[in-house]
Amino acid sequence: MTDKGSQKWFTRNLLKWNREKNHRAMPWKGEKDPYKVWLSEIILQQTRVEQGLEYYNKFILKFPTIHSLAKAKEDTVFKLWEGLGYYSRCRNLLKTAQIIAKERGGVFPDTYEGILELPGIGPYTAAAIASFAFNRKHAVLDGNVFRVLSRFFAIDLPIDSGQGKKIFQDKANQLIDEGGPGAYNQAIMDFGATVCKPLPDCGSCPLRSRCGAFQSDRVVDLPRKAKRIEKKSVWHYYFIISKNGKYHYRKREDSGIWKGLHEFILFESSGPLNPELLFDKVLRAKPLELIGISDVRKQQLTHIAVHGVFLHVKMPAFFRMEGYQLGTAEELAKKAFPRLIAAYLSDNPLH
Ligand code: SF4
Repeated sequence: MTDKGSQKWFTRNLLKWNREKNHRAMPWKGEKDPYKVWLSEIILQQTRVEQGLEYYNKFILKFPTIHSLAKAKEDTVFKLWEGLGYYSRCRNLLKTAQIIAKERGGVFPDTYEGILELPGIGPYTAAAIASFAFNRKHAVLDGNVFRVLSRFFAIDLPIDSGQGKKIFQDKANQLIDEGGPGAYNQAIMDFGATVCKPLPDCGSCPLRSRCGAFQSDRVVDLPRKAKRIEKKSVWHYYFIISKNGKYHYRKREDSGIWKGLHEFILFESSGPLNPELLFDKVLRAKPLELIGISDVRKQQLTHIAVHGVFLHVKMPAFFRMEGYQLGTAEELAKKAFPRLIAAYLSDNPLH
């Protein structure tokens, strides 16, 4: 079979599988409102569908239109986003809503190029919005699509190399269905998520008879990656200092990933420390009492593992901690914290 013939066969059979066997339900599937499509795509960047679903529903309920989101306060949007991580997405969400509502009369750009100009949108997200909301012919290329294409066409170029990305994008562009680019994009992503998974279900795969990787016994070797991600780790020691039923906290104003979120007094280290010795060292001269130490909690980010230890400390009423606000447990519950702290507070609520 020629290369073109095999491409046509792939698209035809993928769409057949989509019509007859694809039962993956998601509330934004088939959605044409660009606001809802955009919102779902931003939430799903670096987030699993199961987790993103809950956030999508919360956002749509609270902000049913782009105008309502554009008018929201940053703290309110951050609180709703809490636990989802990668907060630059949340900042860009608000920025984009304000641009569209205030500068463009509430009208979302309807071309790939116009969508790509918006904050926080890369080629994948622009292609997804352009095809789902406006049926534009732009092929998406995410982890699922790389995996399906790499295996079916037995392409062993690394998916994270410049040459690999170009070859895969060309292939994806050749395969997309002219009649329904949005439905095609959704179908190939669903196929990668439910059949051609990292541990694939080749036994029930309708593409098996022409799958290059299956025929040459290379399924587990594909897709290939050139670089290995080096994983680092960091230790965060949080001092939860209470004074008359209030807690010291502050908003992070630095340019890091937690900008705009709240935190307790933080001591950062590249390795584990003895919390009692740390307390003595950092707060030795102050009239404070260490009343509890948590177990080690962990949050895995893409390149770094963050370990967190929480030290509960009591402070006499007359003492003040410079640079920090005081808030009751109720007030703190309305603030957004990084995921590690929010999860700890959810398991160990303050009173
Ligand atoms: S046969 Fe296996 S590797 Fe090939 S497309 Fe199907 S699920 Fe993926």
